[in-house]
Amino acid sequence: MIHFTCDMCGKVLLADEDTRYVVKVEVYAAYDPMELTSKDLQNDRTDEMQDLLDEMADIDPEALEDQVYKTFRFDLCPECQAAYLKDPLGQTTRLWARFGQN
Ligand SMILES: [Zn+2]
Repeated sequence: MIHFTCDMCGKVLLADEDTRYVVKVEVYAAYDPMELTSKDLQNDRTDEMQDLLDEMADIDPEALEDQVYKTFRFDLCPECQAAYLKDPLGQTTRLWARFGQN
């Protein structure tokens, strides 16, 4: 039988019994639209681009990806869903610490 485990308390959730809640979290960098002037376009940006590429080459690709876009998905039992809604950023729950150990 398919079963899920609550990612917060570890309780086993049977697919055909308890209500199960799914939490999806998207974290991504919000870039402000770039303002370009004709002067910007005339400037040679080759050196700037090369510096940026050099910087990126030193960063672990996974870390770089985490900086840009990251999603999390949690299965929660009804009790933990109620707790999550009261504290979505995990300031009092152990959700994030627990996820980090897995
Ligand atoms: Zn739970």
